[in-house]
Amino acid sequence: MNDILPDEAALWMFVEQTTRQLLTSYGYGNIRMPVVEETRLFNRSIGEVTDIVEKEMYTFNDRNGDSLTLRPEGTAGCVRAVLEHNLLYDGPKKLFYEGPMFRYERPQKGRYRQFHQFGAEALGFAGPEIDAEQIVMLGRLWRQLGLTEVELQINSIGDSEARAQHRAALVRYFESHQDQLDEDARRRLYTNPLRTLDSKNPAMQALVEDAPKLADYLGDEARAHFERLQSLLNAAGLAYRVNPRLVRGFDYYNRTVFEWVTTKLGAQGTIAGGGRYDGLVEQLGGKPQPACGFAFGTERLVLLLREHDVKAPSRQLDVYIIHAGESAAAYAMQSAERLRDAGVAAQMHCGVGSFKAQMKKADASGARFAIIVGDDEVAAAELSLKPLREPGEQQRLSLDAVIARIGS
Ligand code: AMP
Repeated sequence: MNDILPDEAALWMFVEQTTRQLLTSYGYGNIRMPVVEETRLFNRSIGEVTDIVEKEMYTFNDRNGDSLTLRPEGTAGCVRAVLEHNLLYDGPKKLFYEGPMFRYERPQKGRYRQFHQFGAEALGFAGPEIDAEQIVMLGRLWRQLGLTEVELQINSIGDSEARAQHRAALVRYFESHQDQLDEDARRRLYTNPLRTLDSKNPAMQALVEDAPKLADYLGDEARAHFERLQSLLNAAGLAYRVNPRLVRGFDYYNRTVFEWVTTKLGAQGTIAGGGRYDGLVEQLGGKPQPACGFAFGTERLVLLLREHDVKAPSRQLDVYIIHAGESAAAYAMQSAERLRDAGVAAQMHCGVGSFKAQMKKADASGARFAIIVGDDEVAAAELSLKPLREPGEQQRLSLDAVIARIGS
């Protein structure tokens, strides 16, 4: 769990502001859920036999003996909130959230125990247009942030019937190769054989490569959905790779799954992941509603922006105001507020210091101008304006003239 210091936080704010603006422009409304939920919400939605639920949740009993968990992801809480407040009463909804998530993982570059996600959920949309739109929207976000080297991978994991058939075929296949299974794969053989396809163990790769492919079991509707998604992405001019091995670490997904990946962050190369979860709303007690969503990790995005040498656009300070004497301090403060009313970025020297020391501060602040306030300025109701980054003499001006000069 990390502190994010001001230097780095500038990039965070750039990501956050850009993302909020983009999601809003695509019609997503903001929703804010608590960071703790009842534990059983995650068990029911993410799945009992997933890495997250088996070993990564921060779970505790509160003083009342209720089991609570720090949220490891946002979809479950978002769907819970939608159902609790009946947000789908007047039709489909597009929602987004942001904030900290918690997973007890082995920390490394790009993988932390408290990390931050932006998530978007579109509820009530059945067709592949929304899948395509979410993917295209992320492509636009990367462009807006200045990221180029990110690859889009997509896959369809089909509907429950296809998955059941594929699962049965997988179990038969792994059973007939018991001797080649590692410990995780053996443990999951009957509970979650699909997860084994995602194994990072090099010794398992050949076995995984030859395993039965889900693509061979897709039903007609899921197949048509996936084909339509691809033609929408083609029409949008978006490059992608169909990765038949792409599965995600949550049970609630069906049909479309996608990830945006980079080779620039070592092992933790997935920037964003998402897909369809048409069964989750019903599973959590609502009327059946199709849905599609994604999340991206802000830490990984910020790391990648640094790799790309992207700098956060920062607002330069216009003026640094220095002053000497009690009445000058009051007048300086009044003037600072009036400058801010006019949209000037003004910083006032707070505390004591000789003119010379204050002038050094003004220079170090990066401000374009220093404003100097002494007894003379107070008496004349004026300000002295001194350019710090451009040629020009110090001038005594009225406040309005100062504002005009700074704006010019
Ligand atoms: P997931 O919720 O697992 O689909 O992850 C979505 C995105 O969240 C990933 O692509 C990462 O960018 C980010 N993410 C997931 N887990 C972590 C973690 N432990 N540390 C940092 N980022 C993470």
